[in-house]
Amino acid sequence: MQTFKALVVESGDPYVAQIRQVKLEELPQGEVLVRVAYSSLNYKDGLAITGAGKVIRSFPMVPGIDLAGTVVESASPEYKPGDAVVLTGWGLGERHWGGLAELARVPAGWLVPLPEGLTLQQAMGIGTAGFTAMLAVMALEAHGLDKSREVLVTGAAGGVGSLATAILAHLGYRVVAATGRLSEEDYLKSLGAAEVLERSLLAAPARPLESERFGGAVDTVGGAVLAGVLPRMAYGASVAACGNAGGAKLETTVFPFILRGVNLLGIDSVMCPREKRLLAWQRLARELPKPLLEATLKTVPLEEVPALAPAILQGQVRGRVVVRLP
Ligand code: NDP
Repeated sequence: MQTFKALVVESGDPYVAQIRQVKLEELPQGEVLVRVAYSSLNYKDGLAITGAGKVIRSFPMVPGIDLAGTVVESASPEYKPGDAVVLTGWGLGERHWGGLAELARVPAGWLVPLPEGLTLQQAMGIGTAGFTAMLAVMALEAHGLDKSREVLVTGAAGGVGSLATAILAHLGYRVVAATGRLSEEDYLKSLGAAEVLERSLLAAPARPLESERFGGAVDTVGGAVLAGVLPRMAYGASVAACGNAGGAKLETTVFPFILRGVNLLGIDSVMCPREKRLLAWQRLARELPKPLLEATLKTVPLEEVPALAPAILQGQVRGRVVVRLP
């Protein structure tokens, strides 16, 4: 009987997460069996592994909201054994056993072929965070981002923030990186940030409209920070709202919207349609310079994940954490 290693959240009451051997037949249904080479640790995985947020829909559950690996078996004509594949979203690690395991069985429609020019490790260096950052950039561009004004990235030292900073800077925008960790100034400048801003300057109560500064923004923090970003946007500018690491509640006024035509764009990487998904991955392979990607990532074995999970929720993890399997 074949078994493999996985991080399993066994139960929600009491909350138990442990690394153990799992039987092949325990895997959920799906046309494609993938040998996972890398997964990554995202904010949502922190919530899933610690139980700090109710993201897991059924127990037991293997967390890990993304994976990159090689097809072992396939009942789909789209994939054959040996194909390199990538998966983000679709409820992986929340409703369907995820990437923090040596094997995963998934629906073929959830996979995308590994984009040309990326290794499996680099694909997970990008992972859900980089994919989301690219979706945010694409959304801003579709609403008329131009280079005449600065672009703000909040939560800049985190996963989505680091990669959004690197992508935007590489595309030629003047990026202002907002962070709660000024100790990461050199890191953020190495990714291309032109200026690093202390997060509390944005989170302090703002007037309904401040002076127009930013021509676009990628916000990963939400809460008081997003409330402070909106009044500082230039006329007609857009904010791509990706996350809520700093809170889900948004207290603002209508003035940025009705007096400055500011657009608040919601970014959802989970249910992203296939065509857009493929385009975002192609752009990531082309437009995120490899040295910048390498600078954001740290690779750890599965055994280190349980200890890192609380740290990502406390905003202590820099850039991207790639998880190597086995
Ligand atoms: P990380 O933990 O890597 O980054 C989050 C960053 O936010 C931290 O590094 C920190 O940045 C800042 N931060 C953390 N805690 C707080 C706090 N209490 N108050 C203010 N700022 C804080 O997470 P990810 O980059 O993986 O994800 C960021 C957010 O985006 C999460 O909410 C996540 O759920 C969401 N997300 C959404 C997706 C979507 O499809 N919409 C996909 C992926 C992620 P710094 O120290 O620089 O201030």
